[in-house]
This record gives sequence, structure tokens and C-alpha cells, in this order.
Amino acid sequence: MPIIGIDLGTTNSLAAHFTSEGPKIIPNSFGDALTPSVVSVGEDGMIYVGKIAKERLLTCPEHTASVFKRSMGSEKTFTLGNRTFSPEELSSFVIKKLKEDAENFLGEQISEAVVSTPAYFNDAQRKATKAAGELAGLRVERIISEPTAAAIAFGLHTSNDIAKCLVFDLGGGTFDVSILEFSDNIMEVRAVAGDNYLGGEDFTEILMQMFMRTHGISPETMTPRAFAELNKVAEDAKLELSSRKNAVMSWTFGEEARVLDISADEFEVHCKNLLARLKAPIIRAVSDAGVRLADVDSIVFVGGATKMPIVQNFVSRLFKRFPVFGINPDEAVALGAAVQAAMKERREDIRELILTDVCPFTLGTAVSVRQDNGFFRSGVFQPIIERNTVIPASRSERFYTLYANQTSVKIEILQGESRRTKDNVLLGELDISVPAGPAGQESIDVRYTYDVNGILEVEVNVESTGESRRAIIEKNPGSTTPEQIEQRMKELHSLKLHPREKDRNRYLLEKGERYYRMTTGSLRQRIADEMNSFESALDSQNPKGIEDGAERLRRLFEDAEDSLYED
Ligand code: AMP
Repeated sequence: MPIIGIDLGTTNSLAAHFTSEGPKIIPNSFGDALTPSVVSVGEDGMIYVGKIAKERLLTCPEHTASVFKRSMGSEKTFTLGNRTFSPEELSSFVIKKLKEDAENFLGEQISEAVVSTPAYFNDAQRKATKAAGELAGLRVERIISEPTAAAIAFGLHTSNDIAKCLVFDLGGGTFDVSILEFSDNIMEVRAVAGDNYLGGEDFTEILMQMFMRTHGISPETMTPRAFAELNKVAEDAKLELSSRKNAVMSWTFGEEARVLDISADEFEVHCKNLLARLKAPIIRAVSDAGVRLADVDSIVFVGGATKMPIVQNFVSRLFKRFPVFGINPDEAVALGAAVQAAMKERREDIRELILTDVCPFTLGTAVSVRQDNGFFRSGVFQPIIERNTVIPASRSERFYTLYANQTSVKIEILQGESRRTKDNVLLGELDISVPAGPAGQESIDVRYTYDVNGILEVEVNVESTGESRRAIIEKNPGSTTPEQIEQRMKELHSLKLHPREKDRNRYLLEKGERYYRMTTGSLRQRIADEMNSFESALDSQNPKGIEDGAERLRRLFEDAEDSLYED
């Protein structure tokens, strides 16, 4: 049974498998490599994932969710119609869809996957990703960082000329920078940095804001559907600006058709702040890796948003050279995850590669320190595993009781780079009892162990009594316990994915729905007529009628597209 590689992206997700000719992308039910990371609940209670759900984002935004990867590991929930889902549950539908498509394509059951996460994902976000895989019925023993996966796919480890490379990964919602070093069959991640809230979607939002400002539209007056429509118009304009010097956004709000013509230069000016935010993680990764910008032999672009010329220009100016484009930046991560999966399977046709990765954040605890005036100041962060330490890592620190007759010690498990604990992220807490005695008499050893998947385990040991407590840290206790997963799996099991063999026809119906809303007059009537006749053919299961109807609808959509964008 093969293990597949999955790139669970903010905007799109992909699966790949390893073949004797190397890693290959697995096409979905439409024959496409990319499955949009969009989930929608149909009126029939059916779950739609991918291209169909993306259409429904425009026609049924209240029943549809996207960009939920940004909320992984948080307590945010998404309400789709009358059902509420966590981000990992929505992600599990995406994974389930990829799994079904892979099983169909490979003709075998799939029970295990290597799933990628942004390098800069924290502990809670990685655990949520693992949980999403498990909810989808897949074992996820290995999580791989996206830039590391991309570097593997680029085959950089097989190139003799490249010793140090910087992977610049700008996806839909996250930004990662990794510095990797290669020698023979060893691939070392030297440092990672990033921003979990910066990606291509933010550039789309700039265009939406430009449009709203120009036409004096305030966001409060917009319905979810209006938002989704404008977002689509902005997304199209953004893609247009990747290959042309200007783009026209045209959208009807209220009864009025409104247009905005934007040049690539204007867009760049408006994106100044976003582009500036790309710089800090680059500088930090380079400095943590102990290299200079000039020492980087190669810059590799990964993630759809690196296709934007304004991003490419920005990076070229910063490094005074051009990035490498060897492989499709959309596919590199999934292909690398498939290579990692093959390594996990110990396949003979793969060159053994030793990978070392690092911990992206500093992990530590809260302590109180004695001030010059004799009083204690609490809430001070004490690092235990520093960021960019090679993993797996295990480090221990000794702490002492603070007060006389103290009977318990609370260990706060924190992640972050701030000196003050309140500005760092609380991952969990562990309490342990200590024998009463004078202040400072009892010592407690706190050991942090961070494994190759980026999962933290904490062990606390009281020296005098030998009592110890151990915990795998979970930010949302319970959300990923086996019992809870099983319970939720049962509930989710009752929700069926739309049957993949019907995907193409359903997609035409959803697309028709969108064009019907967007058009008027005779074109709208033609769409309505063709949709009715297509639905009748589907109801009567008339294969010839379905095929002809589908073809007529496709042609009609092309006409609609031309008429909508002709000016
Ligand atoms: P990913 O998460 O790697 O699939 O990246 C998705 C992001 O890349 C989305 O924000 C897309 O809008 C963006 N993207 C994909 N293709 C292009 C393109 N040709 N020009 C600009 N942005 C793109």
C-alpha cells in the first residue's frame, strides 16, 4: 500500500506519489493537479470539496469555507449552513477528497500520508494538521516542512554546485523562509523564519480595498456574497497582473456596474507594506543561519504567490540576483512530500537522503526573577530549546521553589521570542507537587523534547521525591485525543463527500448558477434554458443527452465569459 505525499495548502491542495520515474502528481476527478482548499455543504447535506466548492463560494458563501488553513490550531470555528466545523475538520474533508482521488487513480487503498505544513507552523498548528489527516482516515506519522519538501523536489541535494540555498515560499496564506545546506546526501535545514499571516490572499485584499476605496464602497454594506464576488474579481485581476502591465476590475454593486483599471506599477505601490513584511523573516533566517545574503548560492521560489512579478522584483533587488525556477512552484511541495513518503517506505529506488530540520520557535517556560530591591518579578520567559536548534532536540533546565512551604509548582509551556511571557504563546501547563520546605530547597528538572515532526513533549521531575509528570502538549486539550477523534469521526462519517464520478456534471451546474447570477437578458435566459435541459438529462440518466448538454453548457460559459469581460 503506497504512502502518498500531501501538500495541504491555504488556497490549493495536491497529492503526489512516488514512481520508478520519480515523484508524480496525482490528478483529481477533473484531471487537475490542484484541488482548491474550499469546502461547501450542499442543500442535500453533501460535502463538496475543491472546484465545485469554489464555485459555491460565490453562489452560497454562507455554506462554504475557504482559507481555513490560516486558523489551524486555533479555536476558531466555521459555520456552514446549520453545521459548525473546526479548521482541522474542514481540512480533513480536503484530505479525504485527495485520498479518494488517489485511490481511484492508483487503484489501491491508501492508509498513510506524509503531510506538509509551513515550516513556521507552531506546535498546535502541526498537531491540528496531523488530526486533520486522522479524521480523514489516514495515518500521518510524518509531517514535513513545506520548504524542505520543495528543496527535495528541486533535487538540490543532487547538485554539486549548490551548497547553501534559500527557499522562499509564499503561498496563499503563509510565508516561510528556509536556509538549507547540502553536502553529499545530507540536507540540513539551518534556519527557518516566516509569517503565518502573510500570503497571496493579502495581495488580493489590497486590490479589493483599492476597488472599494475608488468607488466609495464601505465593507459594512457588503453581504458575504458581495464579498466573495469582489474577491473573485480581485483574484482574477491579480493573476492578470502577473502576465500583463495592467488589469481591469469590473463588478456590479447595487445596480451599478463599476470598473477600475489598475497598472502593475500602481499595484506595486499599494503593496509596499506587504512587500516590506517579506524582508524581516529573510534577514532573520539568514542571520540565524550565520550566513550573509551574499553567501546564499541559490534562491528557490515556491508557492503560487511567487509568480507575482512584484514579488520577484522585490527579491531580486534584495539579493541582487534572480531566483531559480526549475520546477512548477505549485507542485514542488507535494512532489517533495512524495519523495519523503518513499523514504519512509524505504523504497530501494530512492537515493537515501539524510535530512535534518530545525525547531522554528523558541520553546521555554515562565520564571520569576529576583530584582535588585529583593522583590520577585514574574512573567519572565526562560528559553529551554532555542529557535533553529537542530531537531530532534532534548534539553533540560533545573528550577527551584520560590517560596517557603511551597507545595506545588506550575510549569507554563510557552513558545515565542519575547522576553515577557505574556507576549508569547501559551502551549500548555503542567502542575507537580513538591514537599514543603524552605524557599529554594526543592529542585525541579524540566525537560523539553522536540521530535522530527515538530511535536513537543515535556517531562517534569522533582529531584527529591523522584515524582515525574510527562505530557504531550496540546493547546486545545481534547481536540486531538484518540477518543475525541473517534467520536468526531463517527459524526463526520455521516457526512458524505459528493461522489467523484458526478463531480464534472455538478461543477457545470454550480458554474451555471454563478453565470446565471452574473448575467442578464437573453444570455441569462439561454443559461437558464440549457441548465434546465441539462438537469432533465441528468434526472433521466440519458448519457447522450448529458454529454451533449454538458458540451452546450461549456460553450455557453465561454460566450458568457467573453461578454462579461469584453470591455
Ligand atoms: P499556494 O498556496 O502555493 O497554492 O498559493 C496560492 C496563492 O498563489 C494564491 O493566493 C494565488 O492567488 C496565488 N497565485 C497562484 N498563481 C498566481 C499567479 N499566476 N499570479 C499571482 N498569484 C498567483
